[in-house]
Amino acid sequence: MSAFTDSIPGVTVVNHPLVRVKLTQLREAGTTSYDFRARLAEIATLMVFEITRDLATKVRPIQTPLAPCDGTALVRPIVIAPILRAGLGMVEGMLWLLPEVSVAHIGMFRNEVTHRPESYYFKAPAHLAQADVIVVDPMLATGWSATGAIAQLKECGANSIRFACVVSCTPGIAQLRGAHPDVPIFTSAIDTELNDRAYIVPGLGDAGDRYFGTVD
Ligand code: URA
Repeated sequence: MSAFTDSIPGVTVVNHPLVRVKLTQLREAGTTSYDFRARLAEIATLMVFEITRDLATKVRPIQTPLAPCDGTALVRPIVIAPILRAGLGMVEGMLWLLPEVSVAHIGMFRNEVTHRPESYYFKAPAHLAQADVIVVDPMLATGWSATGAIAQLKECGANSIRFACVVSCTPGIAQLRGAHPDVPIFTSAIDTELNDRAYIVPGLGDAGDRYFGTVD
């Protein structure tokens, strides 16, 4: 099996063996919040490698102790944009490899009547139009939160957006790709089903509750 596949256009499945082993621990019901946080951060770190693979670079001439040398710099700044609250769980792991990025925050809650997400908080840096933006949420379930978050970012000028999650499902991918076909999706697994409460099955349960230790 290759390190990653791209069998659905615009969707990269980061299925490196280490990611699959750590995802198994995330999925397992008995995993403590302590271990859940650690594994989620580690998966996010490992995913950065693929999420950033096609970033534009430019030559940065430097001087080594021995000679001049053409090094590399990124062309555009990066903004990580977690969808609150579970998206916060992917930020720390990404910052290990991307220490100089800005972090936007996008707060969405589910309207229990319409079952659609509504925005309650949005804070992003002013340079969105110049940046490569990575929207993160561990779960891509119905796809409506991601769709809404990305629409908000575009309204504020973002024009280069990637979406990263740990577990996705086919309905969520269809929703997000349909609404924002310019936004590539990076996921470590694609599950098949959503249950009647919009949870991914088999999934891993409520990512926010398990990360923050608020499981009843
Ligand atoms: N959000 C979660 O945390 N888990 C799901 O399965 C779906 C949405």
